[in-house]
Amino acid sequence: MKIKSIKGVKDILPGEIEKWQWVESVAGWMFSRYGFKEIRLPIFEYTDLFKRSIGDTTDIVEKEMYTFKDKGGEEITLRPEGTASVVRSYIEHKMHGQNQLTKLYYLGPMFRYERPQAGRFRQFYQIGVEAMGSSSPAIDAEVMIMLIEFFKTLGLNDLELQINSLGCKDCRPQYRETLKSAIKPHLKELCSNCNQRYERNPLRVLDCKVECCSEIAKGLPKFKDHLCSQCEQDFAQVQEFLDAVNTSYSVNDQIVRGLDYYNKTTFEVISKTGLGSQNAVCGGGRYDSLVEDFNGPPTPCFGFALGLERLISLLPEEKLQNLEQRPDIYLVCLGEEAQQLSFSVTHQLRTAGFCVEREIEGGSMKSQMRKANKLESRFALIIGENEIKNNKYVLKNMKDGEQSEISADTLTQEVYDHYKRWSDAQLKESGQK
Ligand code: ATP
Ligand code: MG
Repeated sequence: MKIKSIKGVKDILPGEIEKWQWVESVAGWMFSRYGFKEIRLPIFEYTDLFKRSIGDTTDIVEKEMYTFKDKGGEEITLRPEGTASVVRSYIEHKMHGQNQLTKLYYLGPMFRYERPQAGRFRQFYQIGVEAMGSSSPAIDAEVMIMLIEFFKTLGLNDLELQINSLGCKDCRPQYRETLKSAIKPHLKELCSNCNQRYERNPLRVLDCKVECCSEIAKGLPKFKDHLCSQCEQDFAQVQEFLDAVNTSYSVNDQIVRGLDYYNKTTFEVISKTGLGSQNAVCGGGRYDSLVEDFNGPPTPCFGFALGLERLISLLPEEKLQNLEQRPDIYLVCLGEEAQQLSFSVTHQLRTAGFCVEREIEGGSMKSQMRKANKLESRFALIIGENEIKNNKYVLKNMKDGEQSEISADTLTQEVYDHYKRWSDAQLKESGQK
């Protein structure tokens, strides 16, 4: 039997991985500027953690989790998202005792048993951020602004930030009842999913993607008209902060989010152009009682998770040039003695910090030069019989073809000098563009 990868799961190969590495390094750089520190979390947790945090009636818990019993009989789930684990870890390690505000980010694979299609996988990657310990609307705004700045740095300028408020435990029960009464006369026209949700999770009717449901949803009462005064005031402040730094957004009162723990500000970042029906790149919001629900101290939180596959598919072409690692030096060796010598010369240059490649099997000058060109090496270092006899090698700049003799005794220093000249010229050139 031919063994293949599992449906909805994919390898990320060299050629593609450079984009991921770049995005991940920009994320680390950007988020640390705002005071966020990385946390590495386990890939699997006790099933109860997800059931209790995400909610029994959500799609994730009802249909999408990879759950199994391990050999010790424990109910285990491959994490479908990261917030639950962050909260578990926050309480377990008593992070609340260390700081008033704990700012964390994570990245890694998530697992959901969904129908694989464009932009939807069974193993996919998320980067997530959680700011824990403040209920200030300034945090909601700051985290969303950081996210938009991150997208801009990646060259993603036409994503749309859409925000909404889901109220709090004071105003939501009332709105839920108002919504239910408004939905009731339409039940026959709504899809079977919405009919199931009506009793247990009527807010989900608002974000149903089935066309006739979303038409009806447009006419339903809006949460923004039923917020308590505190929620109304906080939501207005979030918008004032966004306006203060010219971060554009729109209010979309159909954003509900598919996880139960959200309240107050919730948001999505949508691509209008690039992603077809899987158009949400990022989702997040405030979750003020989750830490307490797990017996932690009162800790209002705000966070988001973004889907890396969808984000990477949107990266503009011009940002993706020159991401692939190129050799600094390609060793071209002619004759057996040179071939032998190339082993230690390669080692010497690599330990000096250069990225060095060579053809282990040797070959003609022409074929080795062709390889150096193909790999887009910056220089070729040519070692032949004559060169060995004279204790001198030839360094060729692959861009302009200029050749220089280099003494074997001062090899590293001379290569370094040439490299420095090359990189200064590069800098100058890019500065002039
Ligand atoms: P969707 O509405 O697309 O199902 P979601 O609301 O289930 O998204 P979240 O749980 O909020 O998504 O996850 C945040 C982000 O993770 C999404 O905006 C999306 O970019 C990404 N994501 C979610 N599920 C998948 C998946 N199965 N494959 C790839 N990316 C995903
Ligand atoms: Mg989903």
